Formats: sequence, structure tokens, C-alpha cells
Amino acid sequence: MSERSFIIHKINGYISTLFLIETGGNFLLLDAGCSCDFQTIKEFLEDKGKTLKDLKLVVVTHMHPDHAGGVKYFKKHGIPIASTEGAYKWYRGVGGFIQHKVDTLLAQFSARRKQRVLKPVNYKRRFKPDFLLKDGDSLPFFSDWKITCTPGHTLYDIVLYNQKEKVLYLADLILKIDDKFVLPFPVLFPDLMLKSLERVKEYNFDTLLFAHDGILHKKDMGISFKKLIENLKVTVGEKNRVEFKIFYPFCLFVHDKWVCKIKKCK
Ligand SMILES: [Zn+2]
Repeated sequence: MSERSFIIHKINGYISTLFLIETGGNFLLLDAGCSCDFQTIKEFLEDKGKTLKDLKLVVVTHMHPDHAGGVKYFKKHGIPIASTEGAYKWYRGVGGFIQHKVDTLLAQFSARRKQRVLKPVNYKRRFKPDFLLKDGDSLPFFSDWKITCTPGHTLYDIVLYNQKEKVLYLADLILKIDDKFVLPFPVLFPDLMLKSLERVKEYNFDTLLFAHDGILHKKDMGISFKKLIENLKVTVGEKNRVEFKIFYPFCLFVHDKWVCKIKKCK
């Protein structure tokens, strides 16, 4: 097994896979999970003889309930949150208010499909990050991790890349469901999704981290990453999955969609 400068802990959250990166006793959490995942993370750290004080940063890749749900609790314990400016404004306005309610319901739909015992996933639709991230920034305290803006799923998604150790956290850019690679639901900005997929295509990685679901080593992919990206690009705009047929019309309330405002990720 190759020796990395950090340890990747994979934790099964309520809906998504959560990754705790351990570097010299300090921890970085890739996405805040659902609100009910806060307790899971806390207990995980305690089982290792650590506390929430050892968690130095939580990065939120976008505002969906399974990625930003736990923010309130981490903030309450004084743990800094890093995110893009756009992400935390995603649910602004009346449209955002409605979309937030809809997305919270959709999260429960996902949990049901995963045969989870239903838990509350309510969370605040806005928060103030302690660190604002822009395209190409390094993470505070964990400078070997850099962010890349990859809009498409929402207007403000990011992925994280550790060039030194060749680890790429894809968040919700690409999902691995039952050994199949698919795009997330919804893809609200198809043109931007195509560009985002192109951007990550050239990344040189050994390990992929998927918020849905798990870890995959390059050698176990069974397909080259470039080929995978090309295959996924063809599916951008497809609406034949059950989510698209039933739920897509309920994903269009969000401010940045209905005002057709295409802005750069900031
Ligand atoms: Zn999402």
C-alpha cells in the first residue's frame, strides 16, 4: 500500500459518503453531510480518541441537504466552514425558499431508496462561510487541497484535488451508483456541466472519492477516466431516469435557474 501524507477515513452518512482526511492529527471534512450526520462524525472522532476540536475545517461543495445539512452544528462547535460565495446564496429569494423545501423532501426520497430509517434532514438554507473559496484556491490549513469550480449540477459546485497525493474528490460531479457511473440529478446547467467534465478530464489521479458512493482506485475503474468522461458527456441533457421524469420540474424554482442568470462560479 502506498504511503500517503494523510489518511482517508470513509464514513457512511445518511445519504452520502463522508470523507475525513487526517493529517498529523488534524482533520478535514469533505462536505458536511445531512444534519443527522453531525452526530456520526462526532462519534467517529470520539471512537478514535479525538474530539471535534481536532476537526479544523469543513468544506461545503454545494448547498444540497446531504452536503450542507450539518453546517449549523459544526458552526455551533466553532469549526470553520469553507465554501464558495455562490454556494451559500444558492437558496436565496422566494424561489430559493421553495427549492430548499423541495430539495429537503427529495433528500428523504434518496434516503428511502437507500432503505434508510428516516431521520430528520432539516437545515438552514443559508449560512455565512468562515472562508470564501474561489476557483484555484488552496484550502485554509490544508494547502495541498485545491478547489476547481465545476458548475452544472448547481451553479456553484466544486471538486477538490490533491495533486501531491493524486486524490480527486468529485462531490456530486460524477456519481458511482452500484458500480455504474452517472451524472447527478438534476443537471440544471447542461452547458456548464459539459465544460466542468472537460475540466476534470485531464486530472492525473490515483484515487477518486465519490460523495455517492465511496472510494475507487484508478486501476479498478475498468475504464479510462477520459473515456468515462466522454461517455458521461453524451448523457448530459438525457431525461430518461425516473428522477428526471418525475422530479425535474420541481427543481426549477431556484433563483439562478428561473432568472436564467449564468454567472461564473465565485
Ligand atoms: Zn447535490
